[in-house]
Amino acid sequence: MIIKTEKSEFGDYLADASNMPGGAAERVFIPETADEVADAVKAAEGPITISGARTGTVGGAVPFGGTVISLEKLNKIVAIDVEGMTVTAEAGVILADLQRAVEAEGLYYPPDPTEWSCQIGGTVATNASGARSFKYGATRDFVRRITVVLADGDTIGISRGEHISDNGRLHLRTDSGSEISARIPTYRKPDVRKDACGYVAGEKVDAIDLFIGSEGTLGIITEVELALVRKPSGSLSGIVFFREESDLHDLVRAARDASFATRAGRSEGIDASLIEYFDKRSLELIAEKFPEVPGGMAGAVFSEQETDDENEDELFDAWNTLFEENNAEMEESWFAVSENDLAKMREFRHALPVAVNERVVRNNQRKIGTDMALPDENFPSFLDYCRGKLDSSGMEYVIFGHIGDNHLHINLLPKDDNETVAARHLYGRFIAQSIMLGGTVSAEHGVGKLKSKYLYVMYGERYLTEMAELKRAFDPDFRLGPGNMIDLQYLRY
Ligand SMILES: Cc1cc2nc3c(=O)[nH]c(=O)nc-3n(C[C@H](O)[C@H](O)[C@H](O)COP(=O)(O)OP(=O)(O)OC[C@H]3O[C@@H](n4cnc5c(N)ncnc54)[C@H](O)[C@@H]3O)c2cc1C
Repeated sequence: MIIKTEKSEFGDYLADASNMPGGAAERVFIPETADEVADAVKAAEGPITISGARTGTVGGAVPFGGTVISLEKLNKIVAIDVEGMTVTAEAGVILADLQRAVEAEGLYYPPDPTEWSCQIGGTVATNASGARSFKYGATRDFVRRITVVLADGDTIGISRGEHISDNGRLHLRTDSGSEISARIPTYRKPDVRKDACGYVAGEKVDAIDLFIGSEGTLGIITEVELALVRKPSGSLSGIVFFREESDLHDLVRAARDASFATRAGRSEGIDASLIEYFDKRSLELIAEKFPEVPGGMAGAVFSEQETDDENEDELFDAWNTLFEENNAEMEESWFAVSENDLAKMREFRHALPVAVNERVVRNNQRKIGTDMALPDENFPSFLDYCRGKLDSSGMEYVIFGHIGDNHLHINLLPKDDNETVAARHLYGRFIAQSIMLGGTVSAEHGVGKLKSKYLYVMYGERYLTEMAELKRAFDPDFRLGPGNMIDLQYLRY
């Protein structure tokens, strides 16, 4: 195990992609095996912050004192079971490496949180999702088994379906024989297709789901077994531009309805794996890096459809008809005809959040970005509300993201401290509006430290206390991930 105790050696471990300031720690442990993770937990004194690749955007991996345990050396792919279509990997394996390894075996791991340098353990701890969640769901849907080191250094392995809550409680036995009895929170989750807000709740909760999305507060995930699917043999992808915003939204609705009908067996054909949105301002920002972006467009949609040799022509026609019916600018649009084109489109999508981050850093400010998802019926009015407020604020902003799931990222780009104050104010109004319309305040990036106050707004004191009680069952001294999700005040009682 590598142990770093000199601050000059571990500056990188004090920040993540949120640019949250003030990170501090006394030491960093970098174990090389799961046993060493347990040793590190026992040797650490006080609070422990678990560090993956630190691509998180809500400060979850940013420590405020105590010990950091980094999973980076647990980076082995243990096994790929081609027949059973699963992969077992240590938590520190980089997502892109895992995707490459399984694709070499003709298999495919769909969760795609845009940022491929994250660790598998980090994606499980945040229940990461992304563009392809439109078809495949979030990371949760693929996790079959996890191995966890608990807050006292004890360990537990949990397989899906093995431990289900009964009468509101879960009973677990650790590897050393200790009993854990945890009461499941009773709040109702919002009726949205993506939600990364707080622990799972409900009547029948699987123990594995408690850890997925627990943001480093219940245990340290050291190994995971993930389900895979067959690699699609082909795909049709396009970035399609629109002159009228209303046409774009009509296209999105039509593509979404057609995809749901196909999945429900009511029709055959269109079944998008992703439907992504770029507003006019996003196109203008990204044109600095991709000058080939056509001018004068109201927005664009990036869509992807998996194909095979038999249905490729038919699907090509179906999508073309859909685009034309909704007045897409076909001559100006981009369609992938090779793997290279597809890689370029994904690069384009990835470059946008990166460009946003660069812009705010250049302004010496912090990005203020939403991560809210809404129920179908309330999404259009939510978007209108936000855009109205943004336009009258006069502030620079871009809107892009996972429109197929009613989940857009509104990024405010304040130029100075005054605008940052105004942007925070606007953000608060968007949060309130989202909650009022039955949405979630975090659909995929999680709560971390930066959004814990909004979790309070969403769930209120009673349910925050229930979350704290659940945490206490696994981590009685509140050592793991202090400040993540649950404000420290709820952990005092
Ligand atoms: C440009 C960009 C685009 C992004 N787009 C998306 C997106 O589309 N969808 C999306 O979901 N996310 C997105 N993210 C956020 C980020 O990539 C994900 O949250 C990712 O899952 C975090 O993985 P990580 O290894 O970097 O974790 P970290 O940032 O290191 O940690 C995240 C949280 O998980 C905990 N943690 C990490 N590893 C473990 C472990 N082994 N056991 C227990 N807890 C652990 C940490 O304590 C922390 O609370 C984006 C980030 C960037 C920078």
